[in-house]
Amino acid sequence: MRILVVEDEARMATYLEKCLVAEGFDVDVAGDGELALERALAGGYDAITLDIMLPKMNGYAVCRELRKAGVDVPILMLTAKDGEYDEADALDIGADDFLRKPFSVVVLVARLRALLRRGEARSATLTFSDLSLSPKSKSVSRDGSELELTPREFALMEYFLYNAGNTLSKAQLLEHVWGAGFAGDPNVVEVYVGYLRKKLDSVPGKARIQTVRGRGYRLTED
Ligand code: CA
Repeated sequence: MRILVVEDEARMATYLEKCLVAEGFDVDVAGDGELALERALAGGYDAITLDIMLPKMNGYAVCRELRKAGVDVPILMLTAKDGEYDEADALDIGADDFLRKPFSVVVLVARLRALLRRGEARSATLTFSDLSLSPKSKSVSRDGSELELTPREFALMEYFLYNAGNTLSKAQLLEHVWGAGFAGDPNVVEVYVGYLRKKLDSVPGKARIQTVRGRGYRLTED
């Protein structure tokens, strides 16, 4: 597992590198935002720890540029307690998690491992019944025929597949598919479940989204 540590304070960078190497990771260090972006765009990392206040380009800009370029490597942002930005910003711009400075290395490593597991899951094909979803090619097929989904429908399908067989409440679906900051009409969930059902039914098969009265929805097999 290869980690890019982005940190401009030399002592902190050396300390992090030492700790992560001791945990069995391969570590590269970038001391400014531009170098971090260049290295991360070149690829090959399983996760990135990203400081915010950096010379040349701040951590937010680095994260935003990476996501814009379609790089979906897990990013753990290291935020300062009384910094200019807060954690909500970190998640908004596409970071996967954040950790507030000062942090313990034990916690940092635990968070990194959690992100790495998520990263692996993110690239593995998900299947249920006759449905198959590839996160890499962003495609869903049923019994071999591809379903044409919008990005939001895809995200919803992905979340249903991760949780196949489990009942998901509207609140859970909203939080995971539309984001915790979503301020629109929560009925959007019903609308999109409706779209997805229509598309699923356009190809005859077994998997379907069932309404569980008073509780939510569930991907199930007839
Ligand atoms: Ca810094």
